[in-house]
Order: sequence, then C-alpha cells, then structure tokens
Amino acid sequence: MAEVRLEGIVKDYGGFRAIHDVDLDVADGEFVVFVGPSGCGKSTLLRMIAGLEEISAGRLTIGGRLVNEVEPRDRDVAMVFQDYALYPHMTIAENIGFGLRMRDWKKSDIERKVLESARILQIESLLDRRPAQLSGGQRQRAAMGRAIVREPSLFLFDEPLSNLDAKLRVEMRTQIKRLHAMLGTTTIYVTHDQTEALTLADRVVVLDEGRVVQEGHPLELYERPNCRFVGEFIGSPQMNILDAVIDRTGAQTMIRVGAASVPIHDLPLPDATHVDVGIRPEHIYWTSLDEGLLTPKIDVYEPLGSDTMAICDLDGQELTARLDPKVRIKRNEFIGLGFDADNLHFFDPRDGARIK
Ligand code: ATP
Repeated sequence: MAEVRLEGIVKDYGGFRAIHDVDLDVADGEFVVFVGPSGCGKSTLLRMIAGLEEISAGRLTIGGRLVNEVEPRDRDVAMVFQDYALYPHMTIAENIGFGLRMRDWKKSDIERKVLESARILQIESLLDRRPAQLSGGQRQRAAMGRAIVREPSLFLFDEPLSNLDAKLRVEMRTQIKRLHAMLGTTTIYVTHDQTEALTLADRVVVLDEGRVVQEGHPLELYERPNCRFVGEFIGSPQMNILDAVIDRTGAQTMIRVGAASVPIHDLPLPDATHVDVGIRPEHIYWTSLDEGLLTPKIDVYEPLGSDTMAICDLDGQELTARLDPKVRIKRNEFIGLGFDADNLHFFDPRDGARIK
C-alpha cells in the first residue's frame, strides 16, 4: 500500500514561508494533481515528498512509514521531470535500466525489465539510440520508462509535458492516463495547466500562495468552486466575474445582473451593496437584443469552428461568451446574451469566498 499522508507540512526558505501547514491524504492507487499559478508552491510540495527538499515542520508518511528523514532513494518513489534528466552519453536502454543497475540487478533481469517497459511506452525501436537522437516526446517517454522500470510504489511527475508542443502534450497526456490505468500506481502530478489537471486527476488539489485552496473531483471544482480564485483558475476560457447590485427594496433580496434579477436567499452580507457574480463563457447563449439579459458590444470574436468565442465589452467590464458557431456576429455590434440563473456563482467581493 502506498498511500501518502501530509500532516501540517511547512516549508520555510529562510524567513519566507513557501508552504503553510498543508494536510493532505493521497489514497493507494489514486492520481492526484497539484495545480496552481507559478510560485504557488506545487513543486516545493512535490520535492518534499520526493525527499529532494527538507521538510521544515510536519509529518510525511508514505505507505504508513514516516519518511521525513529518509533519503530519496530509500523512499521507493520515482520522479519524472520537465527536462527529462536523461544521461546524454548512455543509450535509452542504459538510461532506462540505470536504476536497476544501481540496485545490483542481474544483467538478464535488467534487459527483460527494460524491454517490458519500452513495450508499454512503445519505444522498443529506440533502445539503442542516445537521447540526442530522440524527439522531445520520445525523450519524455524514455524518462517515464526509467521511472516505471523500478516498479516504485509512488510516481511523482513535475510538469513532465511542459517542454512538448501542444499536439504532443495532448498525446502524452492520454498515454500517462493509460499508463496509470494499467499499472494502478499511486501518482502525484504537478502542473500549472488546468486542462491537464482536470483531464488526468482523480482528485485535483488547487494551491495558492503555499496553501491548499480547494481539493476535489475535477467536476466538483468546475461546478462548485469554493472561491473566486478557483472559479477563475479552473475552466477555459476563464469564468467571467461581473459586478452585480444587491437590491433589498422588495420582500425578497434580489441580485441584478444586467437586465436579469435573481432572487437570493440567506445572503450572508448584511451591509454589502454589490456582489461578484461568476458566469462561465459556455453558460452564456446568444439571443435577440430585445430578449438579452445582457446586451454588450462585441470587441473581438474568434471563430473556432466548434464554437465562436465572443469577447465583449459590457459597460466597461470584459465578458467572454462561447457561442454557437452558426451565429453570425460582427465587431462593434451590440448583441443579446442570455444565461440560466442556476449557472451563476456568487462570491464575496471582499475576500472572494463563495456565498452560495
Ligand atoms: P512554478 O510553476 O513557477 O515552478 P511552483 O508553484 O512550483 O512554481 P515553487 O517552485 O514550489 O512554485 O516555489 C514556491 C515559492 O517558494 C516561490 O515563491 C519561490 O520563489 C519560493 N522558492 C522556491 N525555491 C526556493 C529556494 N530554494 N529559496 C528560496 N525561495 C524559494
């Protein structure tokens, strides 16, 4: 069993606290993705789990064993980096088998294991080449081969696809997902790319400024972000945030967004006059100007074939709508847009916390 448990994990670099008191459990066989903007601490957290960075405070256990003071090579983890970290003077076979040679495996056993891993990753024909003779995607597969050959109890990936072009990134993403389904090894994966996080993860952990902001199933984060930061970070194109007015004049408190008035119960902001309303571009639809709940002016539009992205100006606020590609729109034209009130998210403008 290779469950990973972080209890009150802290990382200080001199006087700077990079990780604040993180508690997290990763179940045996689970695929967990750490995601967040640059500098949020995701690599630091992963490197502490790998043993490449000292833990300032807290307890880290892997498979029930306290490993705070255990050397990286004795943690039974394998790590795949963004820059592959292959030895340039060795062949791909030697690179993949390196970890086994270090553990004094028999030559014939190493050859068998290397071939088995290369088959899984479809790089058998490349085993005699050196890293310089491989494409970026092939090198990354070789680096994964070196990780899987050791049959570790835990895989750690640090932005492994960042150096690949967009098409290859998508292919390798699928390959990593397939590999996990095949091997079932507990995996922790770091990325700044929310699409990668949503597509790969059983569970996504969103980090900001060294703290876990929200964790959950990818769809849970998409459907019910617990704050404005997660709402804007998860989902592409990003969620629109509109400034809306709270109207307490009637029997029922209403929130006015454009021409729409949405009733809101138990609003926990007694003195507020405004609220931040989140609406995803895919939850906005085109309608006539008369029927539009919002009537912005089109600033830029991007026909993508599958849909058309309209970036609009709504009284000085930017609003992105993902529209049916059949809708013909022009720059500087006013359009009518509608949405379903059930798809709105409400956030406290002071701290971004989800209200309802
Ligand atoms: P990126 O996606 O840019 O790699 P990240 O989320 O992985 O970012 P980390 O590399 O974990 O972020 O860094 C977290 C914070 O700790 C950052 O503010 C960074 O500047 C700081 N930091 C990282 N390593 C050190 C170090 N060796 N000394 C001092 N500060 C550091």
